[in-house]
Amino acid sequence: MGFPPGRPLPAAARRANMAAEIHSRPQSSRPVLLSKIEGHQDAVTAALLIPKEDGVITASEDRTIRVWLKRDSGQYWPSIYHTMASPCSAMAYHHDSRRIFVGQDNGAVMEFHVSEDFNKMNFIKTYPAHQNRVSAIIFSVAAEWVISTGHDKCVSWMCTRSGNMLGRHFFTSWASCLQYDYDTQYAFVGDYSGQITLLKLEQNSCSVITTLKGHEGSIACLWWDPIQRLLFSGASDNSIIMWDIGGRKGRTLLLQGHHDRVQSLCYLQLTRQLVSCSSDGGIAVWNMDVSREEAPQWLESDSCQKCEQPFFWNIKQMWDTKTLGLRQHHCRKCGQAVCGKCSSKRSSYPVMGFEFQVRVCDSCYDSIKDEDRTSLATFHEGKHNITHMSMDVARGLMVTCGTDRIVKIWDMTPVVGCSLATGFSPC
Ligand SMILES: [Zn+2]
Ligand SMILES: [Zn+2]
Repeated sequence: MGFPPGRPLPAAARRANMAAEIHSRPQSSRPVLLSKIEGHQDAVTAALLIPKEDGVITASEDRTIRVWLKRDSGQYWPSIYHTMASPCSAMAYHHDSRRIFVGQDNGAVMEFHVSEDFNKMNFIKTYPAHQNRVSAIIFSVAAEWVISTGHDKCVSWMCTRSGNMLGRHFFTSWASCLQYDYDTQYAFVGDYSGQITLLKLEQNSCSVITTLKGHEGSIACLWWDPIQRLLFSGASDNSIIMWDIGGRKGRTLLLQGHHDRVQSLCYLQLTRQLVSCSSDGGIAVWNMDVSREEAPQWLESDSCQKCEQPFFWNIKQMWDTKTLGLRQHHCRKCGQAVCGKCSSKRSSYPVMGFEFQVRVCDSCYDSIKDEDRTSLATFHEGKHNITHMSMDVARGLMVTCGTDRIVKIWDMTPVVGCSLATGFSPC
């Protein structure tokens, strides 16, 4: 795929260590709700934890951007409240330079500078990024670029020194999410058609490297891990796909456990866990430190690959054999085209990413042992309509925000391992 060789992976010993810790954790462990922030008048579109501070930055459809700091009472109170011209739809924050980039419904991206004490926010400049709602923003301090995607079907990249547009690339549908690899200048853009496009961005041009197709619904979120060179995508088909870009063999893993649109992802490199949130409030923690199997391609056939009865569109065979055509189904484990009678049973099969029961053919059902049904993920209730999530991995904190106008701060250490900052200390 044109990627330079990946960096060395952490030692196997370290992985084994972490795996042991993960597996020894009791199943009843749950994320702990630490704080709830209320005050926004409309859906909160983005919430970010301020590193090393008890602070959160939020952006909302109510046109405000707010910085909340934890007071002595233990409650979060706004220290900055800024009203924009248009609803806020996306946000990026760079802590070292104290810069906030806010994308709006009107297509503009605005840059602000926050004071050291988080009590003042100064407007820096406006980038004419899009003609329509901004869906995602990434700031690359090294490149001095701000990259964004929007509902005008394009990805734009602009120079943060001059404020000038450097380039844009158009897609056939709304661009919904974005990830960027700083070393190679590769951008991953997810869109409403369910496609992910891999582009190489240059100073004034770009080239399409490849497109990744696998989802059956619009892409809602992407996460790029530059160390293992893994791309994770979440979509409105309720599923997650892990694309092993670094492996260069087109290997993909399907993760099905959510019952609603997957809205946000975060991969924890050290513990090899993927945290995902869905719009029904589902929070899942996937163990990616086990060997998983790829789900098979669905096979096409004119008749059941078990009992050989024709499917209903196979008029000729139906006529010849004077039988009624059957509906076609697919076994999720072997991918064979089978009739309903030959696939009457359901099973979970976590090693292939099926955390809930799916259709399997009778012979696959018989091959699945009880221990094969051991879950490789934990599922938790966020109890609000999550639109966005982000984590402070060093502290094991997660912040979720939603259409219910609420922001929740979670202690994730019971489910993602403790002492994430050092990674090695025992619990
Ligand atoms: Zn059959
Ligand atoms: Zn099968």
